[in-house]
Amino acid sequence: MHEKCGVVGISTAGRDVARPLYYSLYALQHRGQESAGIVTHDGFQQYEHVEMGLVGDAFDEDDLDSLNGSNGIGHVRYPTSGSVNNCCAQPFSVSFKSGSLGLAHNGNLINTDELREELAALGHAFTSDGDTEVIAHDLARNLLEEDLVRAVKRTMSRIHGSYSLTITHDETVLGVRDPQGNRPLCIGELEDGYVLASESAAIDTLDGELVRDVKPGELVVLHDDGSGFDTYQLVETEQTAHCFFEHVYFARPDSVIDDELVYEVRRDLGRALWEESGIETDVVMPVPDSGRSFASGYADAAPEGVEFAEGLMKNRYVGRTFIMPTQDERERAVRLKLNPIKSTVEGKTVTVIDDSIVRGTTSSQLVELLYEAGAEEVHVRIGAPPIVAPCYMGIDMASREELIAADRSVEEIREEIQADSLSYLSIEAIAESLHKSETDLCLGCVTGEYPYDIEGEQTDRDVQRPVVGHSSADD
Ligand code: 5GP
Ligand code: MG
Repeated sequence: MHEKCGVVGISTAGRDVARPLYYSLYALQHRGQESAGIVTHDGFQQYEHVEMGLVGDAFDEDDLDSLNGSNGIGHVRYPTSGSVNNCCAQPFSVSFKSGSLGLAHNGNLINTDELREELAALGHAFTSDGDTEVIAHDLARNLLEEDLVRAVKRTMSRIHGSYSLTITHDETVLGVRDPQGNRPLCIGELEDGYVLASESAAIDTLDGELVRDVKPGELVVLHDDGSGFDTYQLVETEQTAHCFFEHVYFARPDSVIDDELVYEVRRDLGRALWEESGIETDVVMPVPDSGRSFASGYADAAPEGVEFAEGLMKNRYVGRTFIMPTQDERERAVRLKLNPIKSTVEGKTVTVIDDSIVRGTTSSQLVELLYEAGAEEVHVRIGAPPIVAPCYMGIDMASREELIAADRSVEEIREEIQADSLSYLSIEAIAESLHKSETDLCLGCVTGEYPYDIEGEQTDRDVQRPVVGHSSADD
């Protein structure tokens, strides 16, 4: 239910960007494994290569050699709603009267259908039902009438939802972050240019320096010659809606998001978990890899004598359990993926720590595995609140019916996963560890109240859908 694609954009002083884009996509591979793509521009024409699969499989030497130019963008896509096809692989590219456009999008629009209908009525032909194509067509249309900055501003006034975008307009690379800053996007400096990326780990990979986050509602325009960038605060925002789940699960621990090193935030969350629900135990162990930083913080806060050890080994060659279409396959995948280390577990009271429970598949299997390996007691601690509602902001988690916490109390979940005890972290602890107020976070999946106007759902703030219609667009 949460979507976490990865986007990147690079401008250099003449050096081809295909390879730095490719390395950045490798650094962002955890944000999407379904497809990978690059669009570049050499000042004369646009080049593109988009393919299904992992970054390492999507490009070969020849593909990279054919992507000319010192400006370009890239994208890795996360599979959403089980659809495995190439209709929505990105970047999306179009050529039109006033130039070529490439778009890479992380996030999800709420008013895609209204916009598509309106643009279709104006003669735009669509090849997918994705929201990225809608943004591309809207921007293309606005660019016929206005300069780049005004055109982006007009498009921003018409789209509602979450978006971190990297865009090529001919050889110019842009970055845009939605007015609530729902998805991350940051700027980095390279020896001979600048980079925009979903996460700072991609900048590190290029030996660059993190400059800062793109601000919510801000447009960043990289200079074509790699000499710098201009920024435009196109929409002023009073209240942000940063996705807390980026800090809990999606982002790499070595990334800095909104000024916080993700690893340290997760350790703080682990410490808070001990303070809120620490329980006597022989051993604290993580669910690899997602529970590791939480478990280290939790064990750190626990009294001396509590051992921190690896009690589960992960087979790193097994794909993410979520990609399995049926429950039966998902259960098999967990067993393939995790195997207990007997010496850590046998005859002991163990506390096993993970970042989140979604469907409950992982935890149920784990508890059973640990008992089979000889655990006396199995306590489960989770570094996030119960996920009770779906994500509409572009993270493909699950539908409401699939969420184990949607209609169960914590005690009912504990019973279902057959643990001796189960505790989740509070929403207050999340806000505190992120150094943000709850009202500046998107907590939709744990409260069921969203920072956007979504049909059939509640909102936690005063938001309105923009009125679609070209005549009413402001500038
Ligand atoms: P469950 O097995 O309860 O359905 O999922 C929980 C596990 O999935 C946790 O170990 C967590 O790290 C991971 N997880 C949480 N959210 C997501 C997500 O949106 N996508 C994927 N692939 N895994 C997730
Ligand atoms: Mg996990």
